[in-house]
Amino acid sequence: MAATLLDGVKIGNEIKNEVAEEVRRLHETGLRPGLAAVLVGSNPASEIYVRSKVQTCEALGLYSEKITPSESASTEELLELVRDLNARDEIDGILVQLPLPPHVDSKKVLLAVSPEKDVDGFHPMNVGFLSTQRAGLAPCTPVGIMEMLRRSNVPIQGADAVVVGRSDIVGKPMAMLLTNSNATVTICHSKTRDLPGVCRRGDILVAAMGRTGFVTRDFVKPGATVIDVGMNKITSREEFDKYFKGNEKRELAFAKNGYTLIGDVHPEVAEVAGALTPVPGGVGPLTIAMLMANTLKAAKLRRGARFLSAALAERG
Ligand code: NAP
Repeated sequence: MAATLLDGVKIGNEIKNEVAEEVRRLHETGLRPGLAAVLVGSNPASEIYVRSKVQTCEALGLYSEKITPSESASTEELLELVRDLNARDEIDGILVQLPLPPHVDSKKVLLAVSPEKDVDGFHPMNVGFLSTQRAGLAPCTPVGIMEMLRRSNVPIQGADAVVVGRSDIVGKPMAMLLTNSNATVTICHSKTRDLPGVCRRGDILVAAMGRTGFVTRDFVKPGATVIDVGMNKITSREEFDKYFKGNEKRELAFAKNGYTLIGDVHPEVAEVAGALTPVPGGVGPLTIAMLMANTLKAAKLRRGARFLSAALAERG
């Protein structure tokens, strides 16, 4: 039986509607949460991501600002810019779109973002909050995956969860969030022995490697929930045929765009898994929804949740 597809577009829209509703209520108290997106230079993929983030802010009633320093901006200039944003009260979230140009010290710039405005959840202080289960901001992609698991009623407590990938952005925070929700978690990486065997233990398997169709059916416990974080582009006909031959919908998109997106999970896994996230339309839409949710959360944490709930209660 084919796996149930976990619809990231639908769940992402649910989350965005909830954020929009809360933002609308905050407007009544005179508060409008705001996000600043810093886009350095002219990387076409980054431009598309930032445009979509800014448009989503507008659609949800959040204030947003796109700041576009030139490709030649120095580390010092970017630090100055981040410090300005840290100091501005109407800005609740700051996102620095990665990658930054090679001459910029990215770590230094990210570290300069105030932890309370760090809506990407990359600051070491937020990493510490996550690992010690304190209120803070956690990275959008893994938080979105947790929302997807919960809203799809996938049991997490006591489940064996395997995360393939140990990046600071996806793999490690994913493992931490699953641990915090009482899963028994194994983290895998490029030096893991018998990767298929370890992955087969997972009731929940999260693939976050950036390797086209790497996770084949022999990695998957029958009935497992498989979350495909990978976003890889297929541009050659040969590779297209390897994964999608006979798939008419993909064929049309490939002919139109000259590429198609594929995750880290091979399409054949749909025959073994119990539930599976598609690519595109799985984890991607959740990431942007959680960025909006994190901006709202940052506004509430920074401005004092208690003050806000009192103000809201007063207004009925
Ligand atoms: P990353 O920083 O490159 O990390 C990749 C991880 O996968 C590393 O820990 C690496 O192990 C591991 N890995 C690579 N090849 C492996 C192999 N053959 N066997 C076992 N482990 C292997 O990537 P990332 O930033 O975490 O992103 C991962 C993927 O998710 C990418 O395709 C990215 O585009 C995608 N992504 C999607 C979203 C979304 O919203 N959908 C968001 C973020 C990322 P080592 O540590 O040993 O090198």
